[in-house]
Amino acid sequence: MSQRILLLGGITEALAIARLLGPQHIYSLAGIGRVPDDLHCQVRVGGFGGAPGLASYLREAGITLLVDATHPYAAQISANAASAARMAGIPCWALRRPAWQAQAGDDWREVDGWAALITQLAPFSRPLFTLGREPLQHLHEIPPTQFWTLRALQACPGNARCEVIGARGPFQLEDERALFTSRGIDVLVSKNSGSLATEPKLEVARGLGVPVLILKRPVLAEVERVFYSGAELAAALGVD
Ligand code: NAP
Repeated sequence: MSQRILLLGGITEALAIARLLGPQHIYSLAGIGRVPDDLHCQVRVGGFGGAPGLASYLREAGITLLVDATHPYAAQISANAASAARMAGIPCWALRRPAWQAQAGDDWREVDGWAALITQLAPFSRPLFTLGREPLQHLHEIPPTQFWTLRALQACPGNARCEVIGARGPFQLEDERALFTSRGIDVLVSKNSGSLATEPKLEVARGLGVPVLILKRPVLAEVERVFYSGAELAAALGVD
């Protein structure tokens, strides 16, 4: 039986691999970002309906290998992928991007969820949030002592105590520095995505002596094979 891959994506490395896949393979996106229209492989968009839905899809589409190349904080789909592959009796491979590591001069404080984050944020007045859209649900909770700058993929209205900036990486060091200084940022709030595209903000925070509140990484499911870079995964798939 010839190999048929379902690649779960949504990050840069996944798209790079999808570009190398032929028409018998399928690239899957949740549907919150841009959908590429120039791939040789098939593209499908939207959820499967949990692990059972994904398992049915794997069987019906005749998938022989499931590849989880989703974001390190996309814990739900990674858990679903591992159990759906088991249910369908096929292997699951995963790309697990290494986390960023603190360097000399960094002041990183790991936080375990939103409540802990808000507590740790109390002494600061001008945070920069780079967590995606989640903080948008909390705009009404901003204390009078704080003004938030929130960066997400798409701009949207903020309020009197929050500016929302729409921007998509990769980000350049000079632009990041300008963002910090123009907004008077005194603390950065970030996931530990491990992405090169968003790493410059950490260098700026280090240089300016700005602390970083880092949302703890979720623990992801165990799978048959784990890769730590897109290149390593592409080589194992034989598509590099
Ligand atoms: P999540 O919480 O793990 O997943 C929520 C649900 O979205 C899943 O249960 C699944 O729905 C659906 N889904 C997620 N990824 C999918 C994919 N590649 N193909 C089809 N359905 C998918 O994920 P999330 O954190 O919301 O992230 C959503 C997507 O954005 C992921 O693909 C991820 O790679 C990408 N992304 C996430 C982040 C982040 O910070 N979390 C950053 C950059 C990109 P069903 O249960 O119905 O199947």
